[in-house]
Amino acid sequence: MLQDRFGRRFHYLRLSITDVCNFRCEYCLPDGYQCEHDRQFMSLEEIHTLVQTFAALGTSKIRITGGEPVLRKDLPDILALCANTPGINTLAMTTNGHQLSRKVSSWVDAGLTHLNVSIDSLDPRVFHTITGHDSLQEILSGIELAQSLGLKVKVNAVLLKQRNQDALPQFLDWLKDKPITLRLIELMQTGENTTFFNQQHLRAAPIKEQLLGQGWSQILKDKTAGPAEEFFHPDYQGKIGLIMPYGPEFCSSCNRLRVSSLGKLHLCLFADRGIDLRQYLQTGDVEGLTRFLQTTLQDKQATHWLDEGYTGATKHLAMLGG
Ligand code: SAM
Ligand code: SF4
Repeated sequence: MLQDRFGRRFHYLRLSITDVCNFRCEYCLPDGYQCEHDRQFMSLEEIHTLVQTFAALGTSKIRITGGEPVLRKDLPDILALCANTPGINTLAMTTNGHQLSRKVSSWVDAGLTHLNVSIDSLDPRVFHTITGHDSLQEILSGIELAQSLGLKVKVNAVLLKQRNQDALPQFLDWLKDKPITLRLIELMQTGENTTFFNQQHLRAAPIKEQLLGQGWSQILKDKTAGPAEEFFHPDYQGKIGLIMPYGPEFCSSCNRLRVSSLGKLHLCLFADRGIDLRQYLQTGDVEGLTRFLQTTLQDKQATHWLDEGYTGATKHLAMLGG
């Protein structure tokens, strides 16, 4: 089991398989993807060594992320590799919904069990303004198909003062007859979005009060649950999750580790550096990697210091996958 010096246990790996993205989300890649230098993303073999090692150390859940993971041509092979690794019982992916309808059945066939789709607004014009793409309706149809194929679907929406501050009633209406969890995520400051962050950051705590006032109840979390606070309402099929990285107890419930598409371990989303695992991955050295992970994990810090404006080495979340 992977455990740090604060007693936190890590059974969840967020694995980025590319940092390339085709969207231009205002808070993430407002100028689109910029290739800075030659990148060699982890190969299928390297991913195999990584996943095998994490699974042997107690990881039971993997989330594939990016950049936009769907842009990687060998995505179905990566999914199948993860799904077929003993010990992995939850295989999730986060996507912007690109080619969802066309490709989702191949992901299900490969073993995907959970899908998070990012939709910051249900208003097509606002969606376009935020992402630079006019594909909201297509993505919503893709979500219906994903659900019909048995995937558990969550929708991620980043809270933005001038884009969706008043959108809660529209989101709630939409959730009434849909068994979907909508996760409202507080915008996080990163190295490159400080001006946008200062203009747009919105706290989720008032939304919590609003929900409780409208008959929503908080779902009790089990010990291994992550930082999201979840709410249900008897009249709604959907649920709401709030992700409040600036709130107390966010870091104490941390249960995840991250590996970038370049094979670097990030002990925190806002760690000051990624720790290179490539030497172990390229030689298939499961034993060496096991020892290295156990030792290195002891350097994980208690908190991210995000509320003090510290963003570590994270220029934007496309680098790591959020
Ligand atoms: N491209 C995929 C997508 O957008 O779903 C996966 C990668 S994206 C980095 C993962 C999640 O991080 C998305 O839900 C996105 O909205 C969220 N995200 C990106 N930048 C963020 C920021 N600065 N603060 C909060 N969430 C952010
Ligand atoms: Fe791309 Fe996701 Fe970043 Fe949007 S949030 S630019 S879809 S990586």
